[in-house]
Amino acid sequence: MGVIDVLAANETYARDFKLGHLPMPPALKLAVLACMDARLSVEQMLGLKTGDAHIVRNAGGIVTEDALRSLLISHYLLGTQEFLIINHADCGMLTFKDEELRAKLQAQTGTATVVPVHFHAFTDVEENVRQQIQQLRSHPWNPKQIPVRGFVYNEKTGRLKEVAFGAAVAAG
Ligand SMILES: [Zn+2]
Repeated sequence: MGVIDVLAANETYARDFKLGHLPMPPALKLAVLACMDARLSVEQMLGLKTGDAHIVRNAGGIVTEDALRSLLISHYLLGTQEFLIINHADCGMLTFKDEELRAKLQAQTGTATVVPVHFHAFTDVEENVRQQIQQLRSHPWNPKQIPVRGFVYNEKTGRLKEVAFGAAVAAG
């Protein structure tokens, strides 16, 4: 058994389950890409309910090939019309460098490998958010009319701060 009794927890969840009627497309036509950090409760910080939005998460909230795949499916097949990217102040991705982690894992396992090509560590959270917005907006299949907004979440206060990007975001 793992650290929690998964089936017992689910039994409690399913006992009064009332969400079986929800349709597949997100009700708010929203897709969120956020860091996987355990302190980020994306639904709660944005006031979302089950069925409201797609939430794609990975280490850092990075527009990787797989995140891009999910966002394209989210829009083209399931109708989302707005993308949000959420990074956070105390991100673990600020604590290492790609080359160091690669060297460490190689030494620890005794094996070199091709994938993952990048771990996407970064040194500046706001700059990283801008880069991810840019990465998404510049992809030829990214729908041009879709707003892509970026935010930094503060895990000490629970507050989101919008990251200014180009002309699309008002100053401040
Ligand atoms: Zn993080």
